Amino acid sequence: VSFPDNSAYPAYPAPPAASHPGGAVSTRGKTGLWARLVAIALLPVIGLSIWAGTATLSLRRQSNRAANALNHMDRLGQFLELRSAIEGERVPTSTITTIAQYNVPPSMVTLLLGFNPITEQATARASVDKDFAKATVDVSDAHELLMLARRSADQSDVRETVFAKFQKVTDDLRKHSAEELAALRMSMYGFDGDRSVTNSLVALLAAYDSTERFGGATLDLFNVMGNGEENRPARVELASDYALAISALNTVATNAGPETLAALHELRSSQAMKDSSTAIEKSLSGPPVAFVSDLKGTAKIFKALLKVGQLEHQLLGKAATEARRVAAQGQRTSENRLKQSVLIVVVLAFSSILIALVIAQLISRPLKALARKAERIGQGHLDGIPLHEKGPHEVTTVTRAVNELESIISTLDKQTSALALGDLDADVFDQVLPGRLGESVQATMERLSSSIRNREDLQTRLRFQASHDALTGLPNRKAIIEALESALSRAHRRGEPVATLFLDLDGFKRANDVHGHRIGDEVLRECAKRLNAQMRSGDIVGRLGGDEFVVVCEGVAGASEALLAAQRCIDVVSEPIVIEGKVCLIGASVGVAIDLDGNGTASDLLRDADLAVYRAKARGRGRAELFDEFAREEIDRLSDLEQAMPRAIENNELHLMYQPIFDTHDGKHSLVSVEALIRWNRPGHGEISPVDFIPILEGSPRIIDIGRWVLKNALKQLAYLREHEGLVDLTMSINLAARHMMAPGVVDDVRSEIEANNVPANRVVIEITETTLLDDMTIACEHLRLLREMGLRIAIDDFGTGFTSINQLGILPIDVLKIDGSFVRRIHEPMQRSIAQMMIGIAATLGLDVVAEGVETDAEAQALSTLGCSRHQGYKYARPLSPQSLIDRHGYGVRHAPTQSH
Ligand code: C2E
Ligand code: MG
Ligand code: MG
Repeated sequence: VSFPDNSAYPAYPAPPAASHPGGAVSTRGKTGLWARLVAIALLPVIGLSIWAGTATLSLRRQSNRAANALNHMDRLGQFLELRSAIEGERVPTSTITTIAQYNVPPSMVTLLLGFNPITEQATARASVDKDFAKATVDVSDAHELLMLARRSADQSDVRETVFAKFQKVTDDLRKHSAEELAALRMSMYGFDGDRSVTNSLVALLAAYDSTERFGGATLDLFNVMGNGEENRPARVELASDYALAISALNTVATNAGPETLAALHELRSSQAMKDSSTAIEKSLSGPPVAFVSDLKGTAKIFKALLKVGQLEHQLLGKAATEARRVAAQGQRTSENRLKQSVLIVVVLAFSSILIALVIAQLISRPLKALARKAERIGQGHLDGIPLHEKGPHEVTTVTRAVNELESIISTLDKQTSALALGDLDADVFDQVLPGRLGESVQATMERLSSSIRNREDLQTRLRFQASHDALTGLPNRKAIIEALESALSRAHRRGEPVATLFLDLDGFKRANDVHGHRIGDEVLRECAKRLNAQMRSGDIVGRLGGDEFVVVCEGVAGASEALLAAQRCIDVVSEPIVIEGKVCLIGASVGVAIDLDGNGTASDLLRDADLAVYRAKARGRGRAELFDEFAREEIDRLSDLEQAMPRAIENNELHLMYQPIFDTHDGKHSLVSVEALIRWNRPGHGEISPVDFIPILEGSPRIIDIGRWVLKNALKQLAYLREHEGLVDLTMSINLAARHMMAPGVVDDVRSEIEANNVPANRVVIEITETTLLDDMTIACEHLRLLREMGLRIAIDDFGTGFTSINQLGILPIDVLKIDGSFVRRIHEPMQRSIAQMMIGIAATLGLDVVAEGVETDAEAQALSTLGCSRHQGYKYARPLSPQSLIDRHGYGVRHAPTQSH
């Protein structure tokens, strides 16, 4: 079953071109999903990083500030230490200068103050030098000033000069300290780091302030107590400095660390502090006192003030140390925080990136797989491997849909391929398509395939009908020619012969006429069935139409095998066929044509087989004839004769001879009739017997021309013969070919010649062969009936060689049976004799005349007479004679010589 012509189906929409936007998915030149996802995930990371960076930068600034503060603290510490040390040197130095000015011996000082100013000065100077040596800050100017002050002291300058020079040194150092303090304040500005750093710095500043103020207060006190006069500005100074010093100490108390607090406590609870405070308060509230008036008391105050100064410096030192330590601690904390912060930022950034990558990967991987799949599907590659459903819910939904879609498309692809191949029963149609879409596609597919199946069934039926005969179901002429053509091409390849058997049923028309067309159709069906049943597999039986069948046999060994097959066909068809209780006896004539090597064409082979059938029929039917070289010669002869015949008639090459038929009743033989027998004097061939051209020309319409010529001349001759005495009652037998007998004009042909020659119709006998009756009995009988009505008589020639059944003889419009010469020749054989006897008996029963043909011997004549057949024709009595010989032998008088006309 082949797939029906594509043009019969609506065209499918053309597949989109590769460049079509809806076609293949291309990711080239576009930002990938992964990159976008990473970008989205990285945005907060970048924000976080900026924030963390800023925070880190701020931390770094804090750390830098702390470091800066520490640096200034260091420098400040050095300046303070130097100042403290110089203060330590100034006290014994100014003491020495003062006592020298007032001529007080140093031992007095030692006695009053408890220390030797000379040794004290030496020790203090050594300490100061040491401090200068180890200083890292630039104190060259202070050192220079110190050297000037020392020289002045050593030159025993006045107290004020020495004091002023030392004041310059401390002023210089104070200036440096103030710078460092300002810088410290600057670095503390906006410092929001560790609270303890700020506190310790505040404490340090306060301690410094307190020291300064107390130093100032000491000088103020000496100024107040200087010369016992009211010194109001000095008292105001003293009150202010003292109050500020105490306030600064309070600030230290609220901000300092434990060590500084311990020093503060020591200062505050010291006897020196109490004495100093008492002295200051007394000089602020009471009348002015001159310290020279009470040396002992003054010394005591001086000592107390010295001690407080020492304790103040101790406090400042502690505050500086502590501030330095706390600042260092703060810096370390800041740095640690910075490190931590950097670490946190790095870890955060790193983990954010990692998480972003993982999330992007999780989402983008299945989407990428989807995109690849979609691209492949778009390009028409269906691998049928479903994608793993993973990733977010939306992605798995799309994945499932794409998997289903691919499965549907792939199955659809296979189904349409199967449809295209016409394989409508392919397993792929049983596959269940997934999802709702699958169901609807499947339904469409089923509708499509069933509509194709219907069309195909219809086409198959039509094709079968177009190539098969409706009545028998056998291949028709067209199909047979096709089958023959393919058999020939196979034969050509294999070098094997192909035989074509052309069957023409004998007696079918008669069965049809007798029993009707319905039975006739059944007979044809039965014949088809029988032929089919007895053929070898691979042989093809077909019906060409009417009662003609063809069998194509491939791979036959040769002519004999083909003839055997033909004989089998004849045998099966000749078996009686019983339909609805009616027995039909038919036979078959078979023409066999063989192509030995597949070089011929189907139409050649059929034509040859057809010609061979004709020969089989001509040779008596019920037999198989091979189309061979002789047959070919016959064909050639036919065409030669066909061409020559018109000229033969025209050129007067034909003539008739007359063979007498005698009645041998009672031992005498009296002439009853003559049979007109044609002769042809063909130039270059001599006289030709009708046996050599009549049977051949029976296949051609020329035979009718001959029949007319014979009728015309024979009847003219009869008229002439009848003018002779002794021949007046002569009867003439005229042979008419089957073809002529079937021709529509045959009755007119006979009538016109009878009338033209004015011969009595009852003196004319028309001889026909049994074959004439076989072909179409209805027409033949009708024509015979009309002739008999005119008065003519009908003879069956060569009786016994054909198929006329005894049953039919009774209903045929005939008058004479002419027993064929072959029976006469073998009349001495008991069997033949019985047959002849039977024929004679039947003729007698049916009231028919009997004539024996070909009687050559006395024995034959005797035997026939004994059987009751007295009318003889044969060489024993006379050969065919010319009219003149006939007249000479049997006539008595001639009135005028006969002439043959055209
Ligand atoms: P047929 O009609 O049966 O004619 C008798 C044939 O037997 C004649 O052969 C005749 O010469 C031959 N014959 C007669 N007696 C003897 C005998 O004792 N021994 C032998 N061996 N043969 C004998 P012929 O003339 O050669 O004709 C042969 C056949 O040609 C005829 O057979 C007839 O069928 C056909 N024929 C002859 N003339 C005509 C004609 O004008 N028209 C048609 N349609 N057929 C004709
Ligand atoms: Mg005859
Ligand atoms: Mg005969």
